[in-house]
This record gives sequence, C-alpha cells and structure tokens, in this order.
Amino acid sequence: MSILRDKFGRKISYLRLAVTDRCNLRCQYCMPAEGIDIVERKELLSFKEMYRITRVLSELGVNKIRLTGGEPFVRKDFVKFLESLSFNDKLEEINITTNGALIAKHIPTLEKLNIKAINLSLDTLQAERFKIITRRDLFKETYQTLEELLDSNLILKLNVVVLPGFNTDEIVDFVELTKDKNLAVRFIEEMPFNGTGLRQTKEVWNYDKIYAEIAKSYTSISALKIKKSSTSRNFKVENYLGTFGIIPSFTRTICSDCNRIRITSTGMFKNCLFDEGVFNLRDFMRNGASDNDLKKLFIDTVQQKPRNGFVAEANRNNNKDISESMSTIGG
Ligand code: SAM
Repeated sequence: MSILRDKFGRKISYLRLAVTDRCNLRCQYCMPAEGIDIVERKELLSFKEMYRITRVLSELGVNKIRLTGGEPFVRKDFVKFLESLSFNDKLEEINITTNGALIAKHIPTLEKLNIKAINLSLDTLQAERFKIITRRDLFKETYQTLEELLDSNLILKLNVVVLPGFNTDEIVDFVELTKDKNLAVRFIEEMPFNGTGLRQTKEVWNYDKIYAEIAKSYTSISALKIKKSSTSRNFKVENYLGTFGIIPSFTRTICSDCNRIRITSTGMFKNCLFDEGVFNLRDFMRNGASDNDLKKLFIDTVQQKPRNGFVAEANRNNNKDISESMSTIGG
C-alpha cells in the first residue's frame, strides 16, 4: 500500500527512472540530427544513487519501476544494475523501455532476472524508413530483438509513435502484426519533446484519429478491460492473438488515474511528464540527505502533483516552451 498520495487522492506506486541521457539512435521526433547536449558523466546519477532512490521509494510503497533513458543499454553495467534491483522484493514489477538495437544478447539474462515486460520502440516495419526516422541503420538488429523477445518469456509491447508524413500508412500493418504474434502494439500520440522546441508538422494524429484509421479496416474490434492507472486504452481484433492500444500522451485524457513519478538521469524529480522538474535529488543526496530526509521529501513533493499535464505545462517557470528531448526526461 503506497504512503505516497497527492492532494487529489491519487496513490503513487510507479517510478519511471531514466538511467542515462545518451542514446544510440537519433529519432527525428526525439532529438535533432546532431543529438542533444549530453551532460558530463559525473552529473548523471550513479547506479548506487539510483539503487538508493529505488530502495527508499519502495519502502514508501512504490512497487513498479520502468527503466528508460536515453537508451538504458548504452550505459555500462546497466545489466548489473538490473541484477541488484532484482534483489529488492518490494518491487513487484521491473520493466524496461528500449530501442532494442543492442539487447538481443541480453534476453536470457533479462529472463533470469525476472524482468516482466520489455517495451520495444519501433516506429516502422520498413528498413529504409527506419533509417530515415532514427537516422541510424539498425532495423535488422531491432527486428531480430523483436523476434527473440517473442520467443522469450518476457511480455512484449511495441511502442509506435504516430508520425504524420512518416508512418501513418503503416498503422494497419502494425495491427496486422497482432494477428499471429503475442504482443501488444501501442500507438503513441506524438508529443513536443523533440529537443528543438519545434513541432515537426502542424498535424497531430490524436487518439480519435488513430482509432478511426484502424476502425476503417476492421469490423470487429473489442475494447479490453484495463487497470485504472493504465496509460493506454487497449483493444483486440476478433480472433487475433495480440492486442493493440492507443496512448493519449499529448491529449492527456489519462491524468486522473495517474500513479507515476519520474526521475531523470541527472536526478531531477518530476511529478508529471509535462512539468520542468521539481526537485534535484542528486544534489540533495550528495549534500548528505539521510534516508528519512529523502522519505519526507518524497511524501511532501508528491503532494504537489498537478491535477493534470495541462496544469503542469502551464506552471512551468523558466521553460514555458517545451524544448527538452524525451531522451533527457526519460520516456
Ligand atoms: N531509448 C529507449 C527507447 O527508444 O525506447 C527509451 C527512451 S525513449 C525516449 C522512450 C519512448 O519515448 C520511446 O518509445 C519513444 O518512441 C518515445 N518518444 C520519444 N520522443 C517522443 C515524442 N516526441 N513523442 C512521443 N513519444 C516519444
């Protein structure tokens, strides 16, 4: 039972932790071609600091954690960090979001460590397009990871950012993957976190538009029951093995059931994806904070969680225009 509760009565039990700001891809919707200004290594939380944060949060009732980045697997010793996390029996679920390009060889270890689910980011099923979207030629490696994950005992979810001008004509191809593959394809509304402060296009493919595109091709789609705090609304085409879902990340219709907090790779605590970071945990810890100081800080800070992502965005001080990359925030 989580002790962390905000003033709207939402209980916080889920941490998204970015383990690095570095990435081996340069996805157009996430960062400019030259990459983002990465921070010096000493500014990143060490794994020891991350371990401490997760231990303290788990004592307050956080029982689910997602490791993300940047690309988590580019950080040296990430797999060793997973091993240490797996000893924390208060964590009921450890999941990872990855682009998959580096991970095929780690899959047996991830299975042994009881990692529950891998969210694999893949925005196209076409090698040439993959090169354009990610600015890297790694489709073969990523698709191999997808196939090996399907053969593993890890739950596989595919994250597909819907990008007008790039992949909207593949939405149905992705749904077709679920015909005989046991995976969950999740379409994500594009957000402005692309490291430039500019939108790629003015057109936004929102939840309704994505659903309408899929509904044109199928006569029998059923809505699935979801957990209250789920980020996606999920569906199944009749007789298909897998499922598909839509994540209204930009239209933000899921905030009322939010149970999440985020910590960036530099230790910035975020109550909401759209806030600009509310507290620097790294400096707090490096200045000698005790576990009790950390606990008090988490309890007090979570209280201030904004009602929704629109309020969080409006409350930004220095940085009214969103110009961060998801790679800095942790997606
Ligand atoms: N490198 C890992 C990966 O590719 O999955 C983890 C980090 S990545 C920032 C996490 C997720 O954020 C990915 O699924 C990515 O597609 C998504 N993402 C990045 N920029 C986004 C944007 N502007 N809008 C929506 N989703 C975005």
